[in-house]
Amino acid sequence: MKANFPIEQFRKLETPFYYYDTNLLRETLNKIKEEAGKYNKFCVHYAVKANANPKILGIIRESGLGADCVSGGEIKAAIKAGFPASKIVYAGVGKTDKEINLGLDYDIFCFNVESIPELEVINELAAAKNKIARVAFRINPDVGAHTHANITTGLAENKFGISIQDMDRVIDLALEMKNVKFVGLHFHIGSQILDMGDFVALCNRVNELQEKLFARQIIVEHINVGGGLGIDYAHPNRQPIPDFAEYFATYHKHLRLRPQQTLHFELGRSVVGQCGNLITKVIYVKQGTNKQFAIVDGGMTDLIRPALYQAYHKIENLTSEEPAEAYDVVGPICESSDVFGKAIDLNKVHRGDLIALRSAGAYGEIMASGYNCRPLPQGYTSDELV
Ligand SMILES: *Cc1c(COP(=O)(O)O)cnc(C)c1O
Repeated sequence: MKANFPIEQFRKLETPFYYYDTNLLRETLNKIKEEAGKYNKFCVHYAVKANANPKILGIIRESGLGADCVSGGEIKAAIKAGFPASKIVYAGVGKTDKEINLGLDYDIFCFNVESIPELEVINELAAAKNKIARVAFRINPDVGAHTHANITTGLAENKFGISIQDMDRVIDLALEMKNVKFVGLHFHIGSQILDMGDFVALCNRVNELQEKLFARQIIVEHINVGGGLGIDYAHPNRQPIPDFAEYFATYHKHLRLRPQQTLHFELGRSVVGQCGNLITKVIYVKQGTNKQFAIVDGGMTDLIRPALYQAYHKIENLTSEEPAEAYDVVGPICESSDVFGKAIDLNKVHRGDLIALRSAGAYGEIMASGYNCRPLPQGYTSDELV
């Protein structure tokens, strides 16, 4: 089954472009609210880095989610979209002074601190402004997610976070500092995680760490378990809304919160992944020796995930119903990794056909580049194209 797209409208637009189904986005957000809302201490933030298109950010902000940012630029984008600073969390291994000052000026909810030098700088900069920065420590829980090596973040040897062994030392330091307030623990084990067992492993590790802290009579205000819930790239139509019921129930069942604590989530891909598609046009069909190529006008500059992570995106020919043939679907960029898929069955392809790369709402448009002096792709919503 192919997606039901407004082909006539697409024909009027310059390709390649991103197309967002905002009905699906709103349904996804409603489901998140409904499922997280069953547990009154769950607070969900949207990981802005997945997609910062202002139209998308606006819809997500309307739903009441907070924002999870990883740069000063993202904090600005979130504020501009109307997210309250009191719901903004800020992570990142390399926060610059300028970015930290921005967070301090807005009085964001929390800095997720990833090293001792960073903690010291936040304390200094907050002192200069006569402020107290709320900080959580991003602890590297040393649990691996079964995901692509490039998007695993929670293993011990990783640039992200503070090791478990250093946790007590960092907390001691923070407790002595005058301009930071230690309020939480933060974790993020990776992305595109579909095995709930990985999240259970994280819960068990958090429980252990909480016991250790409790022995020191420390109870933090909040625990933040990051994001990482995956989506079904192989079957974008089968279950377009991820199983948030199972996801939140897993945390409810396995993570032992203390009475006053809130549990924060930072979901990116699972919020926006399925609502987005890259729409591109076939420029040429080229016969090779043993294969044929569908050369399209979109490339790795528009959607880099296949080239960067060998990621799979389902590819559909939207404008042909002829019997399927196998094609290598490739872009026009001067790099041999500029391939969207090899030996893909598509309804017979002709010059001018419109091709959809599905499930491209997360880490798609936002990662676009101008390599080869190409213009950045536009993003259109279904609201605009009716
Ligand atoms: C990327 C990231 C997220 C979001 O991850 P998804 O897999 O898109 O849900 C959440 N928190 C942090 C700290 C991140 O870096």
